[in-house]
Amino acid sequence: MLAIFLSLSIAFGAAAQDKVVRSVLEMGRSDNRTMEHADHLANVIGGRIVGSAALTEAEAWVKEQFESWGLEVIVQEAGTVPVGFNRGPWSGRMLSHDGMVLHFGTPSYTAPTHGCQRGHVLIEPHSRRELERMKGALKGAWVLLDAESNGMAIDRSAGAQEKRAEVIARNEEIDRQNMEIMRWNWSHRDSAARKSIPYERITAPFYQEMVDAGVLGFIRSAKVPLQLMYDRVGCMDLTMETLPEACDICLDEAQFEIVRRKVLRKETFELEFDIRNHFYRGPVAYHNVIGVMRGTKYPKEYVIAGGHLDSYDAGTGAVDDGNGVSVTMEAARLLAASGAKPRRTLLFCIWTAEEFGLLGSRHFVESGTVPLGAISNYFNRDGGPLMATGISVPAAMYDDFVKVCKPLEDYDAEVPFVVEKRQAPSGPRPVRAGGSDHAYFAMNGVPTISFRETDPDGLNFDYREIWHTESDLYNKLIPKYMEHSAVVTAVTMWGLAGLDHLLSRDGLYTD
Ligand SMILES: [Zn+2]
Repeated sequence: MLAIFLSLSIAFGAAAQDKVVRSVLEMGRSDNRTMEHADHLANVIGGRIVGSAALTEAEAWVKEQFESWGLEVIVQEAGTVPVGFNRGPWSGRMLSHDGMVLHFGTPSYTAPTHGCQRGHVLIEPHSRRELERMKGALKGAWVLLDAESNGMAIDRSAGAQEKRAEVIARNEEIDRQNMEIMRWNWSHRDSAARKSIPYERITAPFYQEMVDAGVLGFIRSAKVPLQLMYDRVGCMDLTMETLPEACDICLDEAQFEIVRRKVLRKETFELEFDIRNHFYRGPVAYHNVIGVMRGTKYPKEYVIAGGHLDSYDAGTGAVDDGNGVSVTMEAARLLAASGAKPRRTLLFCIWTAEEFGLLGSRHFVESGTVPLGAISNYFNRDGGPLMATGISVPAAMYDDFVKVCKPLEDYDAEVPFVVEKRQAPSGPRPVRAGGSDHAYFAMNGVPTISFRETDPDGLNFDYREIWHTESDLYNKLIPKYMEHSAVVTAVTMWGLAGLDHLLSRDGLYTD
């Protein structure tokens, strides 16, 4: 009798499991809302830099969505920035007989113009002598710098100022030696000339002197698509009294060359910029927003998936990481709408401040939000908008994943989902953080197996094109791949939550 009852309840349990999977697969085709989430993030809200009103708005929206699907929500403060930053529109042009509209941007947390500002253009001084010669002309000028843009703001910290002073001192010594070389060459006109020593380079050696002289801003040459990040060094101890004064412009390298040539040819022309970078008094807190589906049998064990909500703001953060957020949110919605009551707790983690150094996921891991030994796996999604078409796992996890991913095998008839056994551990446990939000989990020995993401239709997606650039826009997303990935994430999380054990950690790392 008992035996019959047991086997019946097991069969019944399996049927309930199948019902959820069937519903997720079915709804994944007929009512997949991944792109609705992505559209809201990228186009209704827009770029979401840490400290912006847009990020605060996005956090509230994610919470509201999770709640509307019946999830419990944890909002976890991960830190604050002292001053907030909102990006407004920006435009510029070259005023000359062959004038042009300028293609440029500024890193976040850099200075605005004061309305629309026009000025002449100079090339930066390289020595004190040059600075002396042009000091009266700096006021109201745009200054071309030698250093190319790396996407980050020009470092205006005290540490950077010290380095500049050291370089200037060494360049003065080089100047002195070059004078001697010149004299030697003059008095040895019959021998081969000695070569002069080149200056040591640093970004804007006379930065502060130029700001004090009243320049409008600095212009660096930048590769396209323009990569525009933020003031990493300065933004964490900014105050409303120490806001940056001079604009920090990254100009399309082709246009930069045109402008530079005009300056060298002593042509008369001006540049005009209107840059609306807005600061507001903080502190501004940033939060992880975590959707929770409590486990019925093992509530204190976890299967986790996530992506990061913060983004750079020259684009709209559609791919990095609107993609990961939308797919994670849709996995949650598909499961909730299918009536899933998982045996283990599912967490859908929408991280904050990834771009500022994985601050959100780090806080989650290091503050002991959940015991790390009780996490079966953390699935991170923060690559391109690609299709989750398989997974490669250590031998000790292989049978579990084969079972759990079985329903995905022929979900897309042309692209069968493949589970592969890893021949060897992927290496030692990482000791340094990098990459994305899986890092602090991995450093602490938590499995962070992620799906293999591919481009089966050959759509030529190029991550470098969107990575922290102005091109990180909604039209770079690939709906078919993302919708598919939401289904894969939902089915896999559900399956792992239903196992009667956590995933084995054997053979995960070599140490
Ligand atoms: Zn990212």
